[in-house]
This record gives sequence, structure tokens and C-alpha cells, in this order.
Amino acid sequence: MKYIVIGAVAGGMTAAMKIRRNDDKAEIVVYDKDTDISYSGCSLTYYISGVIENRKSIVPRDSQYFKKFNVDVKTAHEVLRVDTQNKKVIVRDLITGNIFEDGFDKLIIATGAHPVVPKIDGIELEGIFVLRNVKDADRIKMYINSYCPKKALIVGGGYIGLEMAEALKVLGMDVVIIEKQENILPNMDSDMARLVENYLEEKEITVKTSTSVLRFEGDKRVTTAILSDGSRLDVDFVLIAVGVRPSTQFLEGSGIQLLPNGAIKVDEYMRTNIEGIFAAGDCASVYFKLNGKTIYMPLGSTANKMGRIAGENATGGNLKFSGILATSIFKVFDLTVAQTGYTEKTAQQDGIEYEVGHITKPHITTAYPGAEKMTIKALAEVYSRKIIGAQIIGTKGVDKRIDVLATAIFAGLTADNLFQLDLGYAPPFSSAKDPIHYVGMVMS
Ligand code: FAD
Repeated sequence: MKYIVIGAVAGGMTAAMKIRRNDDKAEIVVYDKDTDISYSGCSLTYYISGVIENRKSIVPRDSQYFKKFNVDVKTAHEVLRVDTQNKKVIVRDLITGNIFEDGFDKLIIATGAHPVVPKIDGIELEGIFVLRNVKDADRIKMYINSYCPKKALIVGGGYIGLEMAEALKVLGMDVVIIEKQENILPNMDSDMARLVENYLEEKEITVKTSTSVLRFEGDKRVTTAILSDGSRLDVDFVLIAVGVRPSTQFLEGSGIQLLPNGAIKVDEYMRTNIEGIFAAGDCASVYFKLNGKTIYMPLGSTANKMGRIAGENATGGNLKFSGILATSIFKVFDLTVAQTGYTEKTAQQDGIEYEVGHITKPHITTAYPGAEKMTIKALAEVYSRKIIGAQIIGTKGVDKRIDVLATAIFAGLTADNLFQLDLGYAPPFSSAKDPIHYVGMVMS
């Protein structure tokens, strides 16, 4: 049996290795147009800031590493087209320029996503970057080392924009974030996002919401951004972080079903509409567990699961994906920002009747040094009492609480169950009544 995998990062390499584990005789060929493979995209902002010093630690494996598992990873090979009828891919070797065909029995597409670059005058000027892969990070680092920029503009107030705001501030730049929505972090409710905006202002990061860039100016290198509020901003570094688009253009005309945004439509088994062709990771759709709807939510945590499921099912398995809760977490300076399940915004879109519980409580008992407050906003469905969503902002202990709440939602626990949870307690770790218990109490 011959398997071809397109894309050699989270989704693709997880799928390839699962195929190998299930079938030690399989012929496995992985194509990637990049030369860095199997890297930690999630670590890129820390590599730029210098928190992670060593490039090798974010790109720990190369194609040689996978040879010992008899997985043939061909880097600098771009798949130009998939011929679904004749079960072959058309590939360009980016070093030699040769174009050739390669046949498969099963295909897994894991081509990820690429940053959206808005059509703005001057966007091609030097000093304007996107961040998706290790080479983007290398380019950013090299520019910072060469020109020592001092005035950074981040276009887009999502989590990548905010992580980069911290990185650039740490590297000595003044940072302005602009976001065209009414608040940053548009996936969160605005009351929670505003807490983050206030915190960023405390950290001397300027946040301009409901604002976009009209054009960039500069002679070769960017010097000015003209904003929709009429202001002219002196800039010598710009990051465009306004979201990603699935990398699936090469599938147009292949017969593989795509969503309007270009994501490959997969079922719970990672099957596309074409027999023997699977997709995983940021190039594909996922199910939102709470309503079964197909959504697009590109995350590394999900890409890994999808890759494993695709690999399992490509080798004859029957592993079903339970869907996602869109659980996410990131930090900006000392603040941790996390969410799972529905927000008020998305619950309203689905017509769900919900109640909201808010608490602000220390993460450990206040008698113990270092207690820090966190704010939790939780949603429960009115008729079933089930917890359906949570957002948390705080400096310590947020990771543990969001994972408890994600587990509670996954398991279908009610608000009343939260108070009953038997959670570990000793002063350095929690309080006798944990913030999770308080959520249960205010919502009971
Ligand atoms: P990708 O990582 O995009 O890999 C796809 C690969 O396919 C690429 O190497 C590409 O070169 C290759 N490819 C594309 N088209 C072709 C073609 N036609 N032929 C051959 N090869 C092709 N997620 C989290 O869950 N938590 C985080 O904290 C987090 N932080 C992040 C921080 C940053 C700065 C970034 C950029 C992303 C972050 N993510 C995070 C998202 C996470 O990195 C992605 O969800 C994950 O990398 C997706 O993996 P993937 O394998 O689906 O796609």
C-alpha cells in the first residue's frame, strides 16, 4: 500500500507516523515545499523574542530523522495538483525545477494555512512581515538584528498579534496594535477582551480598535502607516497578523470539496468526499462539538489529533473525532488568556438560552505568598444547566482552570456539578474553595 502525505508539520507528520505504526510495510512518501519540517509553529514568537534561543529546539527533526522509520520526507517539493481520478499527485522539485507524477493508494492532505495579506498600498515595502513558519521568523530576526527597529505596528489583535506585541516590546520597540473590530481578540466576548486591552495599556502598548491601515509609505523600507482614523504613524517594523487562509488553492478543480473559505470539508473520520483521500490540520474543517456544525478553527492542538485520526483511518481504522471546543490559551507578558466552548456571542448566534456566571478570585489561598486574582466568565445552558463555555483572564493558574472547564464541557457536566468536583487542595496550589467551585456556586 502506498501512502502520500502532503505537508510535513503537525497534521502531516502525525499522520505519517501513525500510518507507520499501524502498517510496517507501507510505503510512505511525504512532500513539503518548505525545507523546515515537523517544527513547532507555536514557539515562533518565543524564538523571535529570544526566550527560545536555539533554532534547532523548534525544528528538532529533519527528513533524515524520519528515514529510520522508513518514511521518505521529500522537502522542497511542491504538490501542484492532485489527480483524484488516476490517484496521483503532480509535484515540482523546487531545487531542480523538474515536474513529475507520483501515484498513491491513499492520500492525506495536510497543507496547513498561510497568512492573509490584505491588499494595501505599500504592503510590499521592506520591514512588513507575516509570521507563519520558521523562515518568516528567521527573516524577522534578521531584520531586527540588521536595522534595530524602534517603532512597531501590529495589524491584527488576535493571539499571534498579542504574542508578538510582547516579543517586540521585550526587544525594545514601542508597539501599537490596531484591530479593525470593536475590540481585540474578536473570538472572545468584548467585556473579557477589554480586560486584556486595559492590561496592554498598562504595559505601554497602544491599542487602537475599530481602526485599519489605509496605506503604507516609505522609500524601499516602510516608514509610515496611514490609518483609517486619519493618523499617520511613524513605523519601522510592521507585522500583519489578520488571520490565515487554508493552503488549498492547488486543489481547485480536483473534485475535492472545499468550504467557501477554501478549507477541505472532512467528516468526523477525516475523510474528504473522495474515497481514499483524507485531510487533517489547518487545511481542513472541524466540527464544533457543542452543535455539530462544521467550522474552521486552525490550531496546532487540533491538527495533531486530526493527523492521528487521518493516519488511523487511512490504514483501515474507524476512529471518530469527537469535535473541538475551540479551547485556546496564550500569554501576553504575565497575563494568561484562555477560552473554551461558547462565548455569549456564539451562543446567541446559535439561539441558545444561557446564563452567565462571573467570578474574580485568587488562584491560591491568600494566606500563601503569591496569590493572584483571575476572572472567570462561564456560560451554562438554561434548560440543561450544562456548562457550555468559559473565558478566563489572570496571571496565574489559568491553564489549570480552563482545562478543568474544557473537561467539564466535554463530559457534559452541569454548573451544579462544578461545586461538587473533588479538586486537589493545599495552599500553594489552590484554595479550599477553588475558583472552579465558586463558578459552580454563583451559577447554582
Ligand atoms: P502547517 O503547520 O501550516 O504545515 C503545513 C505544511 O504544508 C507547511 O510546511 C507547508 O509548506 C506545506 N505545504 C503547503 N502547501 C503545500 C503544497 N502544495 N505542496 C507541498 N507542501 C505544501 N496553535 C495552538 O494550538 N497553540 C498555539 O499556541 C499556537 N501558537 C501559534 C503561534 C504562531 C506564531 C503561529 C504561526 C501558529 C500558532 N498555532 C498555535 C497554530 C499552529 O502552529 C498550527 O495550527 C499548526 O502548525 C497547523 O499544522 P498543520 O500541519 O495543519 O499545518
